[in-house]
Amino acid sequence: MKIGIIGLGLIGGSLGLDLRNCGHTIYGVSRKESTCQRAVERGVADYASININSLATVDIVFICTPIGLISQTVQQLTSYLKPEVIITDVGSVKTPIIEECKRLWNNFVGGHPMAGTAEQGIEAAQKNLFKNAPYVITPTEATPKNSIIILEDLAKSLGSNVYTCSPEIHDQAVAWISHLPVMISVSLIAACLGEKDKTILNLAQQFASSGFRDTSRVGGGNPELGVMMAQYNKTALLHALEGYRQQLDEITDHINKEQWDSLEKLLRMTQKERSPFM
Ligand code: NAP
Repeated sequence: MKIGIIGLGLIGGSLGLDLRNCGHTIYGVSRKESTCQRAVERGVADYASININSLATVDIVFICTPIGLISQTVQQLTSYLKPEVIITDVGSVKTPIIEECKRLWNNFVGGHPMAGTAEQGIEAAQKNLFKNAPYVITPTEATPKNSIIILEDLAKSLGSNVYTCSPEIHDQAVAWISHLPVMISVSLIAACLGEKDKTILNLAQQFASSGFRDTSRVGGGNPELGVMMAQYNKTALLHALEGYRQQLDEITDHINKEQWDSLEKLLRMTQKERSPFM
């Protein structure tokens, strides 16, 4: 197939490496000329350009730009593509993107390859990033069935485990396991920094070890990404935060009332039930 990839960073670049390895011809588009040159040098794309009209002959386009640019990129593409061309995206939040993009292009299929690293840009692109990782496809009632099948087959060829669900279900599930943990981790760091006694704070920082490292890791990540999660997945994230707040209240109550049996029951339950998330 002739495959277009717009946004040659971590996700777009990694997709290019693997899809090219599967025998497809990759037409890359990125914002910077230097990124396009590097994409060809690194084997991410056969051809790369800063002009979106270079995608006029492709069969499918993956939009791998930052999330805030996805729908405007679809809008730009509409002047250059034949109606049978599939447009898909890789955005980490689906509902607002699908709402806008399905109006712009009938043959739009939402997707989310759930793999990544802490790095960004073309140099971060790597082979086999999506192997054994979930690839979620989020069609609507109107999404052409054949286009879903084509995207599923491409995702399977990356070695991904393909899941299909509605955009709303995707966003709530991702809020629980990805966006809520970021906000909890941020709150943990901020709460510790709220300690007024400088001696205690300083000692806490010296004592912090693997437990704190694990629980604070995602709170020390890219601030723009964190804001993006909250902006684009507001409703689902607020629902998850409310559930978390109730849980914190329950634990606080157990400790306040010295209900040690209840606290132990809760800890035993979470010890047992953690593994399905792993
Ligand atoms: P990234 O490494 O920063 O890559 C995005 C690339 O898009 C940049 O390298 C930039 O390339 C290019 N770009 C920016 N504006 C553009 C424009 N107007 N037109 C064309 N290209 C443009 O980010 P990423 O992590 O790959 O994320 C990309 C998408 O993947 C996001 O929608 C995100 O939600 C989704 N996603 C991310 C992860 C993750 O863990 N990072 C996981 C799954 C999905 P230049 O060098 O040319 O400026």
